[in-house]
Amino acid sequence: MSGVSDSVRVIVFGRQGAGKGTQCARVAAHFGVPHVSTGEILRDAIARDTLLGRAARSVLDGGGLVEDSLMISLVQGRLGEQDARTRGYVLDGFPRTLVQAVAFDEMTAARPAHCAVDLEVPRDVVVARLLARRREDDTPEAINHRLDLYEAQTSPLIEHYRRLGRLRVVDGVGTQDEVFERVRATVAASLG
Ligand code: AMP
Repeated sequence: MSGVSDSVRVIVFGRQGAGKGTQCARVAAHFGVPHVSTGEILRDAIARDTLLGRAARSVLDGGGLVEDSLMISLVQGRLGEQDARTRGYVLDGFPRTLVQAVAFDEMTAARPAHCAVDLEVPRDVVVARLLARRREDDTPEAINHRLDLYEAQTSPLIEHYRRLGRLRVVDGVGTQDEVFERVRATVAASLG
């Protein structure tokens, strides 16, 4: 079993439609670490109608963000589980606000994330992709609203990890395999 010293700890940012979920799953499988997607955890809790699910349902339906304190304890609990403690994680969808980032940095101070990957796909490219998939909630207005929220909430985080010297911007335009190879190489280079 791999020990703490060779665990892989990565956080990933990216606009909706940037292919973040797919790339996170592939990176997690490649490095043999859990893919921790906060959106998936919440959707699963909603489907199972747990207490967390009941608290989160209306927030997800309204397209807003679940309260920081709830998200922080959720992630702290998940990263405290055996698989994440020994092997690490690819964290997808968290942190999403500066408050979450500061809490995350504190909870992982002993073993910080190796890198924060920003999967960069220009806004006009993701808008075109999202419109092409034609989901009911994907009207141009809804898409633009979600992207505005993302810029407002996530750009300060990107700056935060840039200042800490941990940000790695990866070009997210290309085939799935091309982008995966860039992300894989970036993560591998940060392990040092
Ligand atoms: P995602 O699958 O990452 O797009 O997440 C789906 C939804 O879950 C988001 O629109 C938010 O309502 C909620 N969510 C996921 N992660 C977070 C987070 N870190 N902070 C607050 N809300 C979140």
